[in-house]
Amino acid sequence: MAARAYSMAEELPVNDVSRATESARAASALSRADVLRELIEEYLEAKKTIRTGFDLADEFAAAQAKILEYLSGWETDWNNWRWQLRHRIADVETLAALLPLDEAAKQELAEVGKHLRWAISPYYLALIMSDRPFGPLWKQAIPSLPEVNDQDGEDDPMAEQWTSPAPGVTRRYPDRLIINVTNQCAMFCRHCQRRRNIGQRDQHLAHLQLIAALNYVRANQEIRDVLVTGGDALLLDDQVLDWLLHELHSIPHVEIKRLGTRVPVTMPQRVTPNLCAILDKYPPLYINTQFNHPLEITPEAKQACDMLAKAGAVLGNQSVLLRGINNQPHVMKKLNQELLKIRVRPYYIFHAKNVKGTSHFITPVDDGLKIMEHLRGFTSGLAVPTYIINAPGGYGKIPIAPRYMIGKKGGRLLLRTWENRIIAMDAPSDR
Ligand code: SF4
Repeated sequence: MAARAYSMAEELPVNDVSRATESARAASALSRADVLRELIEEYLEAKKTIRTGFDLADEFAAAQAKILEYLSGWETDWNNWRWQLRHRIADVETLAALLPLDEAAKQELAEVGKHLRWAISPYYLALIMSDRPFGPLWKQAIPSLPEVNDQDGEDDPMAEQWTSPAPGVTRRYPDRLIINVTNQCAMFCRHCQRRRNIGQRDQHLAHLQLIAALNYVRANQEIRDVLVTGGDALLLDDQVLDWLLHELHSIPHVEIKRLGTRVPVTMPQRVTPNLCAILDKYPPLYINTQFNHPLEITPEAKQACDMLAKAGAVLGNQSVLLRGINNQPHVMKKLNQELLKIRVRPYYIFHAKNVKGTSHFITPVDDGLKIMEHLRGFTSGLAVPTYIINAPGGYGKIPIAPRYMIGKKGGRLLLRTWENRIIAMDAPSDR
């Protein structure tokens, strides 16, 4: 929807409140309400056609049954995260038995598989099977030839290897750092920024390296915020996670702990009562996940997020702007609104990084700006994440926003509102 342009002549008659009669005020409010409703009419229509995972329940049940039959599993297996992880689909024949793949598609998969590992949890595969082929879920999970043919981009655009002062540690900011604890994920997303770390086998950071990373945190008292990620932080065993969080919790200058995980999206079975009991012991704990499309918001994902929230974790979402998946204002708006319903606060939209083999996912920056323009004001501020471009070379996040401050004129600020009204107001510092 194009932003509506207003002229000053269209300003509502709110400046002359004292002289307005009661009925004039009511008429003005009603007319304003009509204008506001009109502003989202197009979205309200479009929203009906954008499905969430809740709309796939029947298809999902059929897909789940088909996968269980193929893998000779039971429903209790399905709900067991270790079974899900052990049975990640990672070979062409199994995938071809469950998805409509022709000979050419099978050869393409085999070719990509020679260079890059891929794996999909049975849960996420059931979601893919419930949607149309080559849809937004398919594109995130199923390898395609551009991944190996396209040599643009870099293996490590964030220069993580140059910003690692201790084993597993990435430090890009003054008061916080990352500990990368594993390269394991429930699914290897095709757009992953750390695909260089996936290698040929799952590998957790060795215990001695974890101790070295913790020692680095202990020795640097300005570090008040530690993000444990990977790979997927929640793929550590409960015992290891318990120990690691306990160690971090015991460092007086570590004020907050964060976990980076995609399991609420790709393998919600990982969120067990035992895991939640562990997380509950170490507040304040922030968990950031990555929902990229409304179809990923399922009853299972909701349950996982509910459990994490009840365990005291503050949940945020970091979506990645991906061509053909979510680079559309209505889709992103619906995603963010649905996230709030499952207690997840939209935190960032990341512009896709210039990672080798992923340029087919990268969108123009204008796509991101257009999305932000359609969020701010048109929906709750809680549903408006910050759009971020990560500076090459590991120099950190740069927030990108539509231009709302137009300039200064005669000691006054010229501002643009979410509706495109141009407003002039006194600048406090100029009084
Ligand atoms: S879950 Fe995260 S780290 Fe793992 S493959 Fe996906 S994007 Fe990469």
